Amino acid sequence: MKIIMLGAPGAGKGTQAKKIAQKYGIPHISTGDIFRANIKNNTELGKKAKTYMDKGLLVPDELTVDLVIDRVGQEDCKNGYILDGFPRTIPQAESLDAALEKMGEKVDFAVNVEVPDENIVNRMSGRRACVGCGATYHIKYNAPKTEGICDVCGEKLILRDDDQPETVLKRLGVYHDQTQPLIDYYAKAGVLKEVDGTVDMEDVFQAIVSVLGE
Ligand code: ADP
Ligand code: ADP
Ligand code: ZN
Repeated sequence: MKIIMLGAPGAGKGTQAKKIAQKYGIPHISTGDIFRANIKNNTELGKKAKTYMDKGLLVPDELTVDLVIDRVGQEDCKNGYILDGFPRTIPQAESLDAALEKMGEKVDFAVNVEVPDENIVNRMSGRRACVGCGATYHIKYNAPKTEGICDVCGEKLILRDDDQPETVLKRLGVYHDQTQPLIDYYAKAGVLKEVDGTVDMEDVFQAIVSVLGE
């Protein structure tokens, strides 16, 4: 099963993608996590990506597409995967489709997690990310057991630089311009599934499971 998660920054793509990956036993591939790991390790890719991410802009397709195409061609992706944060532009979606077609494959589901802009700043200002393992929390809706400490690995939780309110507004603008058109793109391909992302995390998950099937 090849699944794409669509939705604004902060809609809950990562939260749901992790649960789906676990339930269906497929890898969770997050381009944001890949870029952040590269930044942490101070790689060339990380240095380049950071200049865009800090401004709330998308990392250029040239630095993003090959990375993902290469990743989905790996052995553990044979039975499917869930892409979180990719594609984010029409050219990225077209490149993915072209690469899949060569392998005789296609995207099975594009799940759009719908959350209105009004809720997004609140979601993002309360998000906390683990510097160790990348796990995400929310100070109100999904608080860690001990404030500021990751339940999973015990490392420190931080507010991501790009989750500051000014950057969030910039990212929302970029989302509407460059990423939202993908909803139509996948609707035309006949694989779009919409779910309400404003309800409890567990209820969003149930809605997704009911469209993907047990
Ligand atoms: P995305 O990957 O789409 O940017 P995340 O999964 O990181 O979004 O979620 C953004 C923030 O909102 C996180 O702090 C997360 O804990 C919280 N969150 C996710 N889903 C919900 C939900 N259904 N209700 C309330 N808060 C949520
Ligand atoms: P969120 O989960 O809040 O939507 P991500 O972790 O997915 O954020 O992405 C963080 C940043 O990484 C984005 O604002 C963008 O700069 C960069 N990024 C992630 N995925 C892509 C992509 N597919 N194309 C371009 N830039 C990306
Ligand atoms: Zn952790």
